[in-house]
Amino acid sequence: MKNKAPVEKNETYDVNIIDLTYQGMGLAKINDFSIFIENTLPGEEATIKVIKVNKNFGFGKLIKLIKSSKYRVESVDKDYTRTGIAPLQHLKYDAQLQFKQNQIQQLFDKAKMGIKVLPTIGMETPNHYRNKAQIPVKKINGQLETGFYRQHSHDLVPIEDFYIQDPEIDKAIVVVRDILRKYHVSPYDEVNHSGVIRNIMVRRGHYSHQIMIGLITRTKKLPMVDMITKEISQSLPEVKSIMQNINLTDGNALMGKKTICLYGSSHIEDNLLGLKFYISLTSFYQVNPIQTEKLYSLAVEKANLDGTQNVIDAYCGIGTISLAMAKKAKMVYGVEIVKEAIEDAKINAQKNHINNAKFVTGKAEDQMEKWQSQGLKPDVIVVDPPRKGLASSFIDSAAKFAPKRIVYVSCNPSTLVRDARRLADYGYEISEPVQPVDQFPQTVHIESVTVFEKK
Ligand code: SAH
Repeated sequence: MKNKAPVEKNETYDVNIIDLTYQGMGLAKINDFSIFIENTLPGEEATIKVIKVNKNFGFGKLIKLIKSSKYRVESVDKDYTRTGIAPLQHLKYDAQLQFKQNQIQQLFDKAKMGIKVLPTIGMETPNHYRNKAQIPVKKINGQLETGFYRQHSHDLVPIEDFYIQDPEIDKAIVVVRDILRKYHVSPYDEVNHSGVIRNIMVRRGHYSHQIMIGLITRTKKLPMVDMITKEISQSLPEVKSIMQNINLTDGNALMGKKTICLYGSSHIEDNLLGLKFYISLTSFYQVNPIQTEKLYSLAVEKANLDGTQNVIDAYCGIGTISLAMAKKAKMVYGVEIVKEAIEDAKINAQKNHINNAKFVTGKAEDQMEKWQSQGLKPDVIVVDPPRKGLASSFIDSAAKFAPKRIVYVSCNPSTLVRDARRLADYGYEISEPVQPVDQFPQTVHIESVTVFEKK
């Protein structure tokens, strides 16, 4: 007989919250059946309504807190909860930092690897930190609105203060919104795949205060484009670049292939660790500049360089870590899959008068083999992969190089632990406690630096 779930949809239950999942949801058990509930914290007692029942687990909605956690922030903004901009805003910041440390620790413990994870390095002011915004545009009640999607939906909640973004970016979005309204630019309608403006992207240099505005459109033509760009640049003196990206598709991808410069330069400039970086609309650039400096300094320190080493920086983006390492290395070799990012990396090396960094476009896993056949001998390999972690062929190649150290900058603890086990098979052991650095306060994202050394 099929086991029936011990709960029913739409029924209410009183539960104890026993854990916080990596997605930031509270976990309760009813007869061993797991229920995940947003906006609840460990140690809390709550009345919940079951909203979804799957075979092995369900989801609940908080109806009322019976007992609240001492780590709860009481006055939270409902819009941020509804939109998922700040899914951990109801948890005190110190507890957020501990949550992130625990998440990594638990994964290593589960893998029985005997690894220690240090307390997370946090921010002094853990909000208004993002240097980049990607804001959807929609028509609501006949008016163009900017905001954020309600969680698990494409319903736009109009928002002007995004809480975790640079406030100057928030102001710029409102200015651009009002100009688009004035010129009657029609918002994208994803149901009928009609309308013009899909998203507004804004980047602002933390040190340079240079702003780039990206207008992502469904159509090649942006009506009144000259008036719009003129007015944006006049209203926002920090704007050094206005770009248009054309996304003809009807899918969820943010940007299309074609980007054109409407005003000023196609790049803005910013600084990190005293180095200049040129950033284009489509390049990856860390979103939290204050914490990125801490993260990169740590990565450089952990690489243990004295000027005599060759370093590979895999997944190098626009060369940020590579150039930070170059000052202390003999030669740095960077690889990255996005061609434009590598073009930027080369420009960045020049602008900083760095001659000992070479960059190639390609898949990291393929390039490793090429470097191998070219006889490259790296002493240190630095990796900073996307969430899916390292390809197993990458680990095979990295091990063949037999570098003394591998410095792993990770944005996903579960793939970090998976890759750590694979590296252990090749004799690479974690030689110092793992150090989390909070790049994304108020959210569940976890960044960390781990050092592997050959036994
Ligand atoms: N180290 C950089 C970028 C890190 S983000 C920084 O800190 O700014 C991860 C980068 O990996 C992105 O730039 C992404 O484009 C790139 N990438 C993703 N898959 C890749 C692959 N298979 N090979 C090389 N680079 C890849």
